[in-house]
Amino acid sequence: MNAFENALMQLDRALTHMNIDSNIAEQLRHPKREIWVSIPVKMDDGSVRVFQGYRVQYNDARGPTKGGIRYHPNVDINEVRALAAWMTWKNAVVGIPYGGAKGGVVVNPKELSERELENLSRGYIRGIYEFIGPELDIPAPDVYTNPRVMAWMMDEYSKIARKNVFGVITGKPLEIGGSAGRNTATAKGAFYVIEEAKKLLGLEKPTVSIQGFGNAGYYLALFLHDSGYRVVGISDSKGSIYNPDGLDPVKVMEHKRETGSVIEFPGATTDKDPRATLYYDVDIVVPAALENQITKENADKLNAKYVAEVANGPTTLEADEILHERGIFLTPDILTNAGGVTVSYFEWVQNNYGYYWTEVEVFGKLEKVIKQSFYDILEIRDSKKVDMRTAAYILAVSRVAKAMELRGWK
Ligand code: NAD
Repeated sequence: MNAFENALMQLDRALTHMNIDSNIAEQLRHPKREIWVSIPVKMDDGSVRVFQGYRVQYNDARGPTKGGIRYHPNVDINEVRALAAWMTWKNAVVGIPYGGAKGGVVVNPKELSERELENLSRGYIRGIYEFIGPELDIPAPDVYTNPRVMAWMMDEYSKIARKNVFGVITGKPLEIGGSAGRNTATAKGAFYVIEEAKKLLGLEKPTVSIQGFGNAGYYLALFLHDSGYRVVGISDSKGSIYNPDGLDPVKVMEHKRETGSVIEFPGATTDKDPRATLYYDVDIVVPAALENQITKENADKLNAKYVAEVANGPTTLEADEILHERGIFLTPDILTNAGGVTVSYFEWVQNNYGYYWTEVEVFGKLEKVIKQSFYDILEIRDSKKVDMRTAAYILAVSRVAKAMELRGWK
């Protein structure tokens, strides 16, 4: 099953609990527009290589489409379609006025020089120029793209438009229209979700285990540690570490910078299996690395009371059912990691206004959005007697469907 088939099955599962017009449902199963571009890049040795790029705009009933751009050798159109669909639901679930989109370029950016990477990024924007814009489609970073790449892309768009268009892209550096707090926004949003779940489940000084120690996992570990949670397990691609007395995320990060990995951290036991971190005896497990980590093969091995999905798509459909049957509480990715896109939305608002907020203002607004969404989903879970993911989908899909209906798209 490819990623898009999986995304459609998740949608279908939510639709069975809803009373959606069949003409609307049919449209929800298809991306609105797909742009395929060939990007010729002059390489440092004088040769020209042509890279394949995609942009999928899934649904724009609720506003301009929004979603990141991924640079990865395994990018394919079905993955981009799935990610674009998920962005549509994510933006709807937190109630920000966007549709969903995603972009991808088939490339291993680690093999490119800085100049080649810049040429590729500018070439991609020239390819999709007429289909993006602050009121049309607003890209952002994703896997292996970063604020530097966003700066080149915004600049290329602005050059063609012959004016500064900061609002065409988010995740930019602070100096050229980026937002305070964007770097830690995903972790901050996840932290707000976990705080509410902690109250709901009645957890006291919870123990936590985090898979993945990158932008999302590291900052989340920091926020939790600073708020009295005990982070006892951490992993990266090389393996997992465990210390029942707790791990200091700052010290673990220093060790990772020095040695290249979290493994062999002094005072902790090391397991060479990066998934071991999912199985530790803790209150909360946080997958914050990759998709498809909790599957029907290992869902029985989890010992936690609560799974907070920070990664996109870390749990397969079959594993979802096993966790639900086992009574393990789960907050789905489209809620738990929505802090990133919400602060991207704030960045776009600030660009449109030309007036910039402090980090305290940004996080104050983020906290309200995330907590409101948590309780909106919980209410649906309780009234429809479904799991949290299905409840989140019901909320998101009904918002998109309502916008389509109001616009007369039946
Ligand atoms: P990142 O590249 O900064 O970090 C990824 C981390 O995962 C690294 O520590 C890496 O060593 C680790 N890792 C890789 N393979 C692993 C494995 N097999 N087992 C354990 N760890 C492994 O990425 P990130 O930005 O932190 O994103 C992590 C996840 O969160 C992704 O699924 C991403 O789509 C999702 N996410 C991130 C953001 C964001 O703003 N950063 C927003 C939404 C969703």
